[in-house]
Amino acid sequence: MRISSVGIVGAGIMGSGIAQVFAAAGIAVRLHDVSAASLEKGVAAVDRSLARFVAKGRLAEEERASILDRIRTGTDLDALGSVELVVEAASENTDLKLGIFRQLDQVCGPDTVLASNTSSISLTRIAAATGRPSRVIGMHFINPVPLMDLVEIISARQTDPGIATFTEEVVREIGKTPVQVRDSYGFVTNRILLPMINEAVFVLHEGVATAEDIDQVMKLGMNHPMGPLALADMIGLDTCLSIMEVLYEGFNDPKYRPCPLLKQLVDAGHLGRKTGKGFYDYDGGGG
Ligand code: NAD
Repeated sequence: MRISSVGIVGAGIMGSGIAQVFAAAGIAVRLHDVSAASLEKGVAAVDRSLARFVAKGRLAEEERASILDRIRTGTDLDALGSVELVVEAASENTDLKLGIFRQLDQVCGPDTVLASNTSSISLTRIAAATGRPSRVIGMHFINPVPLMDLVEIISARQTDPGIATFTEEVVREIGKTPVQVRDSYGFVTNRILLPMINEAVFVLHEGVATAEDIDQVMKLGMNHPMGPLALADMIGLDTCLSIMEVLYEGFNDPKYRPCPLLKQLVDAGHLGRKTGKGFYDYDGGGG
């Protein structure tokens, strides 16, 4: 194995999934979060996900216990001092991430590779916040992490090519498929996906077709497993808007202008599944 230990910063939706896939590959995981409640929720999410694999016959019950056993949690960042790789998956906020990378640079040994799971923040900027910019890289996992194969590996302007190769090997060892890309707003995934979703919102906004029919066209006509508006509701309309804003401001190009309807739904608090209302209504939500 390329590494025997990994630190994960942030135990939310992504951090818990990332912890699970490393632990399932036999790697010791130090899962860190500032919130003890998030750590508890994160480990519970891993446990539920592993239980589903057991129920489907894809994992032995004993394996479930040993995977969970490999995940150690804590609110003290110093516990990540001796790991070989850190994957940061804290909330998507530039100042917060720059602060975490400055701290990691102090806490971790000089050889530790520092990776971020950011969806849209410049890796070049994150790397520049540390004293080891050549050892900083993006590892963009896709939600839900235990089920999705892709990991986009993003090289910052300063990243050493050897570190990109190392990261690619680690990604293969945890059973995922790496794709190497250069640092650019939205990388490849969100540069292509979000403008498609935004265009679907414009089509709805202009009254060309209903939400159901737009999604139907993309499912039946393009073989997409899910229509773009239903997907936007799953991602969260606030997240969709903030990624469009990163593209719009980053490239300074009107082709990335967020649709006014997307902005209005976010202003109304209709953020998709998580609030019970977005382009569709969901049972049990609060919005
Ligand atoms: P989330 O809100 O579920 O989890 C974020 C976690 O970070 C929370 O548990 C929070 O307590 C913790 N946190 C906040 N400040 C911290 C700090 N200073 N130190 C340690 N932990 C801290 O968010 P998420 O959806 O898991 O997203 C995490 C990252 O992954 C973001 O950068 C996001 O853009 C990226 N991402 C998300 C998705 C997705 O579909 N959700 C997909 C790809 C990438």
